[in-house]
Amino acid sequence: MSEQREERQHQPREQRESRPGGFNKKRRGKRRKVCNFCVDKVKVVDYKDINRLGRYVSERGKILPRRITGNCAAHQRAVTLAIKNSRIVALMPYTTEV
Ligand SMILES: [Zn+2]
Repeated sequence: MSEQREERQHQPREQRESRPGGFNKKRRGKRRKVCNFCVDKVKVVDYKDINRLGRYVSERGKILPRRITGNCAAHQRAVTLAIKNSRIVALMPYTTEV
C-alpha cells in the first residue's frame, strides 16, 4: 500500500486575473471639465466669497482635489489659499464635527 499524497501548498494569490472592485470604465462622454474661474475670468479669488468657495470643499470641510473640481492649477491654488484665509477669519469651517 502506497499512498501518494499530493501536498498542496497554499499558494499566495499573486496572480490576480481581475481586480475585485476595480473598474475599467472608460471615460465616456464629451464633457470636459473647465475651470469655473477661467470661465468667469476671475483673477483673484475672494476669500469672503463663501458661496463660491463652498463648492470646492467637501461636506466635511475638506478642500476638494483638482480632479474633482476641474480647476486649472493656478486657480486651484488660489482657491486653496482663499479657503485657508476664510478659515482663519472663521468664514469657513476647518472640519464639521458631528
Ligand atoms: Zn482657471
